[in-house]
Amino acid sequence: MKNDLYRKIPKVDVLLEDERIRELISNHSRELVMDCIRLEINKLRRFIGVCEDLEDAEREIHLLATSIEKSVEKTITPNMKMVINGTGTIIHTNLGRAPMAPHHLQHVYNVSMSYSNLEYNLEQGGRGARYDHFEQLLCELTGAEAAMAVNNNAAAVMLILNALAKNKDIIVSRGELVEVGGKFRIPDVMDLSRGNLVEIGTTNKTHLDDYEEAIGENTGLLMKVHTSNYKILGFTESVGIEALSELGKEHDIPVVEDLGSGVLIDLAKYGLTHEPTVQESIQAGADVVCFSGDKLLGGPQAGIIVGKKKYIDIMKKNQLTRALRIDKFTAAALEAVLMEYRSEENAINKIPVLRMISMNIEEIKKDANTLYYKLVEAGIDERITLKIVECESQIGGGSMPLETLKSYGVTLKPSHMTITEYDKCLRSVKKPIIGRIINDEILIDMRTMHSTHIDKLVHQIKDI
Ligand SMILES: *Cc1c(COP(=O)(O)O)cnc(C)c1O
Repeated sequence: MKNDLYRKIPKVDVLLEDERIRELISNHSRELVMDCIRLEINKLRRFIGVCEDLEDAEREIHLLATSIEKSVEKTITPNMKMVINGTGTIIHTNLGRAPMAPHHLQHVYNVSMSYSNLEYNLEQGGRGARYDHFEQLLCELTGAEAAMAVNNNAAAVMLILNALAKNKDIIVSRGELVEVGGKFRIPDVMDLSRGNLVEIGTTNKTHLDDYEEAIGENTGLLMKVHTSNYKILGFTESVGIEALSELGKEHDIPVVEDLGSGVLIDLAKYGLTHEPTVQESIQAGADVVCFSGDKLLGGPQAGIIVGKKKYIDIMKKNQLTRALRIDKFTAAALEAVLMEYRSEENAINKIPVLRMISMNIEEIKKDANTLYYKLVEAGIDERITLKIVECESQIGGGSMPLETLKSYGVTLKPSHMTITEYDKCLRSVKKPIIGRIINDEILIDMRTMHSTHIDKLVHQIKDI
């Protein structure tokens, strides 16, 4: 019986005569379509091999041209795509962290569409450095003497430790031996950088004496790591960057702070608890400070290093720098985003991450209302229970873990399928919708959803 089925599979030359397949070939390439034909025929053969219901198999054979069309469509559609973030987590690591604004990307586009002065000094007509485009600006914004940037903050930490403390002791409090995520652990990075970790204090308490007692002949660095993704509460004590910097100066040992999030403006003004800013660390005397480009700074993935010129110069010459350097896309995006920080108002309004953090609650509520009524208008409430709800957004990206922001959203509860099935449907549309499942409902938090996406969202939900 199965042999009959195998025989019913159209031969390739027959398929090539099929009008739909011919159209595919004229729209795409012959090679691409041939690959899909072979792929789909093999799939079909495997299906017949395991299929128990012959009618199912007949149907699949009948649908072969359609499967090939779908297969071509899938092949020419990139895997990476925009998604609609309804989770309410602003810096969502799995969803690409900080989204960028079109006018920042325009700069990336302009610079990379053609040749650029990436490493060319136009005034002198000779070699320049890729950091030149934003080093001065970073110095002005943070008060540091010098600056550079590498691939990400993990790379920045590695470079700093290797450049300043190779084969030397690096003193760190036990309360700050952080795992950032993706198994990026400070102690492991020290190993890789060939520095020797000297742990001091305890998980909850570390005193200035602990640092002082640990300082010896071979001490290369005093390091402070901002515990950005967790908080130790209760009976705690840690040494601030100011006291640590003083100690470093007394002993002529550089002091480094890994700030993680990289805030340049005081977020307390926008209803969050105060997060130490980069300029505060520099002001307090830190010799070197590093932070991420795509966390609270709201820029591209990068690890930004600012500090004393003599240390930054050592890093610029380090061999690792070549391996960890940023590319031209990042350099351009970073310049565009940093330029906004010349004015706090611009930064808040034009950098998406900061805009989402500082969004007015009434504005969010209005978006939730708009979404709700558009969904009702589209008749979606026939099978799905809709509600406007108050909810809480998070900063995410391992920044400010205890902080939530009051927000509004719309919940969807389907009556014709389970919540996990419905969630899967939402994820499988053209511009996938990522929500949060809470108590058998899917929540779309409006804070992280651009209001221009509301119509798209309604259309897609309607089509499910
Ligand atoms: C996030 C973080 C890092 C890693 O930064 P990436 O840019 O993700 O490489 C390092 N240290 C701290 C304290 C962080 O919060």
